[in-house]
Amino acid sequence: MDNNFPIDKIRNIGFIAHIDAGKTTVTERTLYLTGRIRKVGGVDEGTTAMDWMPQEKERGITITSAATTTYWNENRINIIDTPGHVDFTAEVERSLRVLDGGIIVLDAVAGVQPQSETVWRQADTYHVPRLAFVNKMDRVGASYERAMDTMKTRLKANPVPIQLPMGAEDKFQGVIDLIGGQAYTYTTPTTIGNDSGFDHPEVGPVPDNYADEYEQYRQTMIEKIVETDETLMIRYLEGEEIEASDLKSALREATMQQQIVPVLCGTALRGKGIQPLLDAIIDYLPSPLDVPPVEGTDPKTEEIGLRYPDDNQPLSALAFKVMTDPFVGRVVFLRVYSGKVKAGQSVTNVSKGKRERMGRLLHMHANHREELEDVSAGNICAAVGLKDTFTGDSICTDEQPLILEPPQFPQPVISVAIEPATRADQDKLSDALRKLSDEDPTFLVKFNEETGQTVMSGMGELHLEVLVDRMRREFNVDAQVGNPKVSYRETLTQPIRVEGRFVRQSGGHGQFGHVWLEIEPQEQGAGITFENKITGGAIPREFINPVESGVRQALDNGPLSGYPLVDLKITLVDGSFHPVDSSEMAFRNAGMLAIREGAPKGKPVLMEPIAEMEVVTPGEFLSDILGDFGTRRAQIRSIEAQDDLQTVKVTIPLGETFSYTTSLRSLSSGRANYTMQFKDYQPVPAGALKDVVGR
Ligand code: GDP
Repeated sequence: MDNNFPIDKIRNIGFIAHIDAGKTTVTERTLYLTGRIRKVGGVDEGTTAMDWMPQEKERGITITSAATTTYWNENRINIIDTPGHVDFTAEVERSLRVLDGGIIVLDAVAGVQPQSETVWRQADTYHVPRLAFVNKMDRVGASYERAMDTMKTRLKANPVPIQLPMGAEDKFQGVIDLIGGQAYTYTTPTTIGNDSGFDHPEVGPVPDNYADEYEQYRQTMIEKIVETDETLMIRYLEGEEIEASDLKSALREATMQQQIVPVLCGTALRGKGIQPLLDAIIDYLPSPLDVPPVEGTDPKTEEIGLRYPDDNQPLSALAFKVMTDPFVGRVVFLRVYSGKVKAGQSVTNVSKGKRERMGRLLHMHANHREELEDVSAGNICAAVGLKDTFTGDSICTDEQPLILEPPQFPQPVISVAIEPATRADQDKLSDALRKLSDEDPTFLVKFNEETGQTVMSGMGELHLEVLVDRMRREFNVDAQVGNPKVSYRETLTQPIRVEGRFVRQSGGHGQFGHVWLEIEPQEQGAGITFENKITGGAIPREFINPVESGVRQALDNGPLSGYPLVDLKITLVDGSFHPVDSSEMAFRNAGMLAIREGAPKGKPVLMEPIAEMEVVTPGEFLSDILGDFGTRRAQIRSIEAQDDLQTVKVTIPLGETFSYTTSLRSLSSGRANYTMQFKDYQPVPAGALKDVVGR
């Protein structure tokens, strides 16, 4: 495939959904349909499709790669995999960072569910234009209208239906396109994989029995669209008939401006409604040309630079996923924002300040890999051969460096000790831990010298469970895992000015280092900033870095319970030195001493991770569930009823949620569900301190 593919025909998209809404099924149907249609080329569908299917059936048409490339009607669609579970925050962030448009997949019965809400908010942060696909229209209790209502109430979105479903539940037959005025009816069954489906719609006029509803829906849609476009609005008010092409382009613009979320529906399991969805992806979601230029910082001048999606611009690419592929080894997925990258080219990883060589460049398809000579601006590819490049790193040429803003990854909030089951597993375990943490920036592994323990940390119980499971399955490691512990932190609540003096006179050469630091609390998540304000040579320049490194080392052990001190700004304001006795080591120690002796004076507090949890339960178990929350220091935020179901939202210390799955099962005879995600850190209340730190 030539890589001078027209950029306006590229769509970099992701399906985003609550777990179980049907994201995988929608993706598989998409790959199946697009793959098949490309293979067949519209000539002899029957036979070619038949030849191809058994192989696919065997291999399973699943998306196994961080980005899969496929084609639909002369357009290239790169599907960026996004996880369905919010415990995998890093995965959500990195995928939203590189995609241009998203499709939120909703369950037609459940509507918007809590995790969709979270991902929606993240997509808002990254300004990602979206479509919505109301899936599972075949399920008992499916309701297109209600699903859209939940988009309004829970997401505060502006959903605009561009289709009208024909029937629902087992009577769901297809969709009517409100813009083109055509009905897509699915009546001829085909078989895909193990499911029966109806892939080929018959396209025809709107059936008479839907004529009224069609008119009504269409009017509402037109009004919503013209509201976003002044010239169309005037034409509409003057009674002019607005043509489909005008409606389409106005809707495309409104979608890209995130004023409207066009809504479609169907059932992926039964193969209904997927073709119109693919058309809508092309019609309404942006190409790389339609999104603002990417912004970055020139590491030399610190100036902000912009890069446009153009092959003639300097190269800038962002690594958004590292994976170990069983066949080609370490693969780095890249979004090329500007310029062109060639296989074999030497490039710079500006984030790490390292030269790297691109080895092979690949497009990953559902059923094969495609070798590429070069990759143009706007595209997504997999690169083999980059050794020191990790998720979030920027790649460019030496001459024109630009550091693109990396996705934001939170610090892990929970950890467990892990040890190999046998000696023989030791090496395999280290290898597995290294590879997995290589892939996932929110998975950290630390070896504790004092206890000889390996501790791994991540974003939640499930996150770590999944990783341990992958170690077993993919790396064949048998390991024992301890009980999870939350990662507490400490911070100071009052600004202080502290002194650190490290002076030793032990005959001969002495040691002398002396610093004054100002320490101020910073907002949550700000981390540690260190600033040097020494002027006039009170401390020679070569000793500044050692001071900083001593400070940072001391911050690892907070004054209350030895948890890391976070969210502080440290300014080196003064100090003194000795012409003979001063050394790097002496200043390092002075920095450490300043923190150790000073921190207790800054009113330290212990901080614990807090989670947001949402429990959905049949009404009869509500009071037991609330009673149980009372013993877990949870704060009830809201209780909402819908039919017989109660939805309880709480905030709760993460440390109080371990094994909640089991508790909730017994409290509700297995009938309630919950979802949970990390929210932020809060001071541990005095009354709970003893339970938390055992004193
Ligand atoms: P994901 O967790 O969002 O990736 O969801 P999956 O694609 O794995 O689907 C979850 C479950 O819903 C599976 O059992 C699917 O077979 C089922 N499912 C997916 N799409 C549909 C649909 O259109 N109708 C019905 N009835 N079930 C569906």
